[in-house]
Amino acid sequence: MKPTQFAYDRPDSVEEALELLDEHEEAELLAGNQSLGIIMANRFASPERLVDINRLDDLAFVDISESRVEIGAMTRHRTLERHDDLRSVLEIVPEAAEQIAGPAVRNRGTMGGSVAEADPAGNYPTVLAALGGHVHVASVDGERTIPADDYFVGYMFTDLEEHELITSVSFPRDPFPPERTGSAFVELKRGSQTWPTVSAATAVRVDDPSREEPVVEEARLALGNAAGIPLRVDDALAELNGDPLTEAALDSVAAAVREVADPTDEMHADREYKTEVAGEYAVRSLRRSYDRACGSEN
Ligand SMILES: Cc1cc2nc3c(=O)[nH]c(=O)nc-3n(C[C@H](O)[C@H](O)[C@H](O)COP(=O)(O)OP(=O)(O)OC[C@H]3O[C@@H](n4cnc5c(N)ncnc54)[C@H](O)[C@@H]3O)c2cc1C
Repeated sequence: MKPTQFAYDRPDSVEEALELLDEHEEAELLAGNQSLGIIMANRFASPERLVDINRLDDLAFVDISESRVEIGAMTRHRTLERHDDLRSVLEIVPEAAEQIAGPAVRNRGTMGGSVAEADPAGNYPTVLAALGGHVHVASVDGERTIPADDYFVGYMFTDLEEHELITSVSFPRDPFPPERTGSAFVELKRGSQTWPTVSAATAVRVDDPSREEPVVEEARLALGNAAGIPLRVDDALAELNGDPLTEAALDSVAAAVREVADPTDEMHADREYKTEVAGEYAVRSLRRSYDRACGSEN
């Protein structure tokens, strides 16, 4: 099938794009076209107008400052996957990027497209929720910043308004000093081109990696595809604080994850299986983050 006919604009600036979104209520932004194209070709969506933002080079950047990492909406997965400076301060982001599909998708797909789509299985949405990131948006009315907790509202439903454009996302750096923090993104999937059955994004900060048994100061966890939005399990994690990461502690996190997970049945993985896997992948990801924080990853 082919998409239905649509009008097409290709603005040269963010301001122009915002004006087009304001003028044409029916307009849909086009970024990497790795999701929208498929949806349109199958006629699950038939927007009357596309506003192609591929000329907005100002929105393709990675800015690493003392307090945060900011990533422009038009930054491609491939750029993030290969960004060594980013990997050295927040390895979870390149790790999430490199596990998205194959090179063809990663060459074109963007941070903004993925966050706008807000698929609960999406790699970046899960990382944003885990780290407590922010989504920065603009419209003709001005700019605003939405905390990840408020951004993901329901299944593929966000706080983003029709005439708004995501300009960037940011991740705080203060809670994650790289010399004593490890982070990880792990996922189960059936093949390289498929979305994750379940994923886990974690970060663990320890007190002192040079100690024999470093103590967890703070742990973060979000699960992808385990509920309608990226799923946080904060209460169970708080119990990890103040002790080394033991297998017993990990078992109780897994039990807590299975308690709150609320995944949907899929053709290749039913609800019960996904719930079980969510607990296991939470453990794997936390263990990897802790080992990285301690500098002892195998
Ligand atoms: C085979 C395959 C496997 C994949 N596997 C994974 C996976 O494992 N994990 C994963 O996370 N993703 C996966 N993806 C999706 C991929 O990450 C897409 O690139 C991404 O979801 C959409 O980004 P895009 O830039 O292509 O957006 P587009 O397809 O261009 O747009 C998607 C939606 O976002 C909106 N949009 C785009 N940019 C903005 C913006 N700046 N502001 C507001 N709205 C905007 C568009 O209007 C549209 O509604 C896969 C895709 C394919 C084709």
